[in-house]
Amino acid sequence: MEQALEVLRTVFGYQDFRGQQAAVIEHVLKGEDTLVLMPTGGGKSLCFQVPALVCKGTAVVVSPLIALMQNQVDRLKELGVRAAYLNSSQSPAAARDVERMLRAGNLDLIYVAPERLTMDSCIALLKGVEISLFAIDEAHCISQWGHDFRSDYLQLSLIVEEFPSVPVIALTATADERTRQEIVKRLRLRSARTFVSSFNRPNIQYRVTEKVTAKDQLLDFIRSEHQDDAGIVYCLSRKTVEATAKWLVQKGVNAIPYHAGLSTGVREKNLSKFLKEDGVVVVATIAFGMGIDKPDVRFVAHIDLPKNIEAYYQETGRAGRDGDAATAWMVYGIQDAIMLRKMASQGDGSAAFKRIEAQKIQALLGYCELTSCRRQALLQYFGEESQNACGNCDACMTPIASWDATIEAQKAMSNIHRTGQRFGVGHLIDVLMARPSDKIQSLKHDEVSTYGIGKDQSEGVWRSVYRQLVARDLVRVDDYGSLALTEKSKSILRGEEKLFLRTSSLKEGKASTKSRSKKRAGASKSPTPRYSPAPAKIGSGNSLFKALSALRLELAKKQDLPSYCIFHNATLEEMARLKPKTKSDLLEISGVGAAKLEKYGQIFIDAINQHH
Ligand code: ADP
Ligand code: ZN
Repeated sequence: MEQALEVLRTVFGYQDFRGQQAAVIEHVLKGEDTLVLMPTGGGKSLCFQVPALVCKGTAVVVSPLIALMQNQVDRLKELGVRAAYLNSSQSPAAARDVERMLRAGNLDLIYVAPERLTMDSCIALLKGVEISLFAIDEAHCISQWGHDFRSDYLQLSLIVEEFPSVPVIALTATADERTRQEIVKRLRLRSARTFVSSFNRPNIQYRVTEKVTAKDQLLDFIRSEHQDDAGIVYCLSRKTVEATAKWLVQKGVNAIPYHAGLSTGVREKNLSKFLKEDGVVVVATIAFGMGIDKPDVRFVAHIDLPKNIEAYYQETGRAGRDGDAATAWMVYGIQDAIMLRKMASQGDGSAAFKRIEAQKIQALLGYCELTSCRRQALLQYFGEESQNACGNCDACMTPIASWDATIEAQKAMSNIHRTGQRFGVGHLIDVLMARPSDKIQSLKHDEVSTYGIGKDQSEGVWRSVYRQLVARDLVRVDDYGSLALTEKSKSILRGEEKLFLRTSSLKEGKASTKSRSKKRAGASKSPTPRYSPAPAKIGSGNSLFKALSALRLELAKKQDLPSYCIFHNATLEEMARLKPKTKSDLLEISGVGAAKLEKYGQIFIDAINQHH
C-alpha cells in the first residue's frame, strides 16, 4: 500500500485516496477478485490504474467504447504512464507496434475492446506475456436487465477460464442489486468482494420543471445559469436532436448534434469537439454518453424523459465529475407521461418483463411528481437511506406546494367516463372547457354532462391534472393515447379519498385563489443552493485563472488534446489561489504529478510570476 500511495502522489499528483479507493486497491493487490460499485466521478479508474503501476506485468482493461479508449490512453500518456490500446479502429501496422511493446514488457496498461479480447489470437498473445490484472470497465454491460447490454461482454467469462491466476476487477456505476448479482455470476468472479460506495453526488443539483415550450425553457436555463459551459442535452428522437441543436446554434449557443443516424465521421468529429473545446453543448439521444469521462460537464438537461430512474441517474451523472457544482435539469409534461405509459404496454417482451418495465416507469413518473427531496428519493431507489433533505434540489430549495385537487380530479375523471374512455387529452380538455370543435359537434360531446364544467381553470391546470392522474396510475393510457380510468380511480370519484396534487407553475393567477394554492409568494426561478464545494472557490472571473485557462487551451490545441488532459479546472483554481513560485510549490497542488511538472511546470510558473 505504501507503493500505491507513492504512485498516487508522484504519478497522479493527488495527496490521498478518496472514499473506498484505498480499500479496493488493497484488495486487488492481494490478488483477489473485486467488484466496485461507485457513482460516476467517484474515482473508479484509479482503482485499477494504481495497481497496474504497482504490480509487475501489464494490466488489461476492457472498455466498451472504441471512441473513448484513445482519450483515456492519451490522458495516461500525459501522466507518463506506458499505456496503449488495441481495437478495430487501428491500422494493422499500429496494432503490430502495440503488440510488440506488449511482448517486450513495455506496457503498464493495455486497453482492449471486448470483441477483440475474446478472439483466439488475442488470448494467445496475452498468454505470452505477464498479465497483472484484468479490469472490466462498465461491467453492467454484461447484464441483460440493465440498459447498456452488450452481447460481446458475455464472452468475457473466458478470462477466468483462460487466466485462472490473474485477478479480475469489475467496475460499474450501476447500482441495483440485480445487475450486481448478474455481473458476479456471468463474469464468474471467484468469491469476489464487493465494494459499494454511496451513490450520492452532492455537487449535482436535481431539478424537474413542468414542460411548457421545452426549447425556450432550455435556452432560458442555459443563458441564465450556464452560459459558455459544457453541457449535454438529452432528447428522445433524432429529429428533436437535430432541430434543437440547430435552434440553439441560431440563438448563439455553441451546440452540436449527436445521434446514431449521423455518419461515423460526423459523430467522431462532434465527439472530439465536445471533448477538446471548452463550453460545447452536445444535443444527443441516449446513444451518447456511456464512458464519456469529460470531467467539466456543468449541466445535463433532459427535454424528454429518460427511460427509467437508472438511466436518469446514469445520464445526469455525467455532469460534474470534477466535483464542482453542476445541474441536472429536466422538463416534463403530459405527453411525456403518455408516451412512457404507451411504451410500457407495447413491445413484445414477456408479461413478467413488461410488468417490471411498467414498475420502472411508474417509479420515474413518481420521481417527476415528487414534492419532497429528490436526492433522498433517488438514493432510496438504490437502497440507500439518507436522514436529511439535501438542500440542493428544487424541492428542498423552493418547497413545492400542493393543493387539494379532489374536485378537479373528479371533474377530469368523470369527463373521461362520460365521453366513453376513448379520447386523448386534447379533446378531453376541449370538452371540459367548452371549446367548440368539429369533433365535439359530430360526437355530440357538447351534450355530455361534463361539457364546460372546467371553464374555471386554465388549460395548463387541466394538463397538469391529467398528467398527475396518469403519473399516479389513476388514469391509464392505451396504445392510441386515449385515456381510461383504472380501478384506483374509484375511491376518488366516490369522494372517499382526497387527492393533493403539485401546484402547477402554470396555475398562478386565474385559479389560485379558488383552489387555495399554497405556493409561496416570491419563490424565485433559480434559487441559490446550499451546496458549495470546499474550499472557497476562485471564480471564473479571476484574471489569473483566466490567463492560466488560456495558456492551457493553447497547449492543448498544439497537441490536439482536450484541455482537461493538461490540468483540471480545480488544479488551475488552486494555482490561481496559491500562486506557486517554484516547481516544488507547484508539486504541492492537487493534480500535479511528476510527468506534468516536468512537461508544463515551468510554463505555468512563468505565467503565474508574470501575471500582475
Ligand atoms: P469514474 O470513472 O468513477 O467516473 P474517474 O476515475 O474518472 O471517475 O474520476 C473522477 C475524477 O476524480 C477524475 O477527475 C479524477 O482525476 C479525480 N480523482 C479520482 N481519485 C482522486 C483522488 N484520490 N484525489 C483527487 N482526485 C481524484
Ligand atoms: Zn433535496
